[in-house]
Amino acid sequence: MIDSHCHLEQKEYSGVREKIVFKAKKEGLKSIITCCAHPKDLNLTLKLTEKHKFFVFATASIHPEFIKDFSEEDVQTYFNSLIKNKKSLVGVGETGLDYWWIKETKWRKKQKKLFIKHLKLAEKLNKPVVIHSREASEETIQTLETFNVKKVHWHMFSAYNLLKKVVGNGWYISVNTIIYKSKKHVEIVKEAPLEKIMLETDSPWLSLEKGKINDSTSIKLVAEKIAQVKNVDFEEVWHTCGRNTAKFYSLPIHL
Ligand SMILES: [Zn+2]
Repeated sequence: MIDSHCHLEQKEYSGVREKIVFKAKKEGLKSIITCCAHPKDLNLTLKLTEKHKFFVFATASIHPEFIKDFSEEDVQTYFNSLIKNKKSLVGVGETGLDYWWIKETKWRKKQKKLFIKHLKLAEKLNKPVVIHSREASEETIQTLETFNVKKVHWHMFSAYNLLKKVVGNGWYISVNTIIYKSKKHVEIVKEAPLEKIMLETDSPWLSLEKGKINDSTSIKLVAEKIAQVKNVDFEEVWHTCGRNTAKFYSLPIHL
């Protein structure tokens, strides 16, 4: 009953943000973890965690696809404000490698450097890391292992052949509505232990209805599908995945 990964600060929610949070509460969600992936969104993200204390929690980073937009100095300035606001953050991310968006070797190298900077920040702040990885799963794993990162939440995990390794390392994965469209993700859910799965939406994106804006309540649909795929009760998925998330992020809430 926790949306472990969404983007409440996105412009798609302008004017309806409060309604979206209200709807999530009304439909029985216990909390939402929103991910600030761009420095320009930090203020709004922090405001949301203040306004909805103990319901909206936040992680923050520079998303790997924005690698070309920031100098090292910009990154440092942003990281300084994350350090200053560390009490308002439950994790660092999403960070990682995105070789689908970024093709040039030069920029991929910079992306990896930025990824490593995020890992060091997470270590310094003693917070979990949220991973975004596209077309770069093996290198992402290698990097995480090199730095011996323990608390890893791999958002929208999609590398079936590497699932055993990820779970074996004690890391968590999260699943969203893509499970309705992708056989690969169904296979991942079949194999992964429920104790290692969190529910997410990556909203406002990934609505199952074409042209509509997704929101955190679609974790219900995700839980329904996981229950069907794993042949267990909806309630078991709903509660176990919620507990996994609350424990992983040490959320100060009662479930
Ligand atoms: Zn995301």
